Amino acid sequence: LTFEEAGLCESLNKNVAKSGYVKPTPVQKHGIPIVSAGRDLMACAQTGSGKTAAFLLPILQQLMTDGVAASKFSEVQEPEAIIVAPTRELINQIYMEARKFAYGTCVRPVVVYGGINTGHTIREVLKGCNVLCGTPGRLLDIIGRGKVGLNKVRYLVLDEADRMLDMGFEPDMRKLVGSPGMPSKEDRQTLMFSATFPEDIQRLAAEFLKVDYIFLA
Ligand code: AMP
Repeated sequence: LTFEEAGLCESLNKNVAKSGYVKPTPVQKHGIPIVSAGRDLMACAQTGSGKTAAFLLPILQQLMTDGVAASKFSEVQEPEAIIVAPTRELINQIYMEARKFAYGTCVRPVVVYGGINTGHTIREVLKGCNVLCGTPGRLLDIIGRGKVGLNKVRYLVLDEADRMLDMGFEPDMRKLVGSPGMPSKEDRQTLMFSATFPEDIQRLAAEFLKVDYIFLA
């Protein structure tokens, strides 16, 4: 698979080329078709493997094709993708990559994490948000305030799942997945990334992903 063969729309292809990506990394080559096919995915991938583009590109492609932002009817722009990562550095990297790829398109990513002013964060979300990136605590905070509806969520991405467990975010992840309005695993696509695949991550995968999820190592 090349980026040209990935079936991305023109604006995404342009933004990928502008990023200087010529050849997909292994996790992109194998992961993009799985995500595009609508399958749940558990991927063992390190930081630096290119995993961010592996999930962002097929998600953005889908949202641009038939997402709320692409709709000719003006609907409330509530998140269709939620991306969770354990630290503000990591989530900011994901957000910057999402902005780069979504540049010049109808899809608007927003990032939320502790340390940025809550009022500002909420205003950004309320302006309309198609891809919501956040750390677990801050995501739960704004969801708990009733500031963001979850019923349009089609994609849930849990990045660096092993670090989330190490940092004690398991209860927050569980709360997030069980938040009012969050579609059940049957009604969303869930993608989990982790550098390692020990028993506790296998257990989370069994809990959050559909039974027929694809394992990529
Ligand atoms: P990630 O593993 O997603 O954190 O990506 C690691 C770094 O590799 C990031 O700085 C990306 O910009 C870069 N990168 C990702 N995919 C590619 C690619 N196909 N070609 C060149 N660089 C890439």
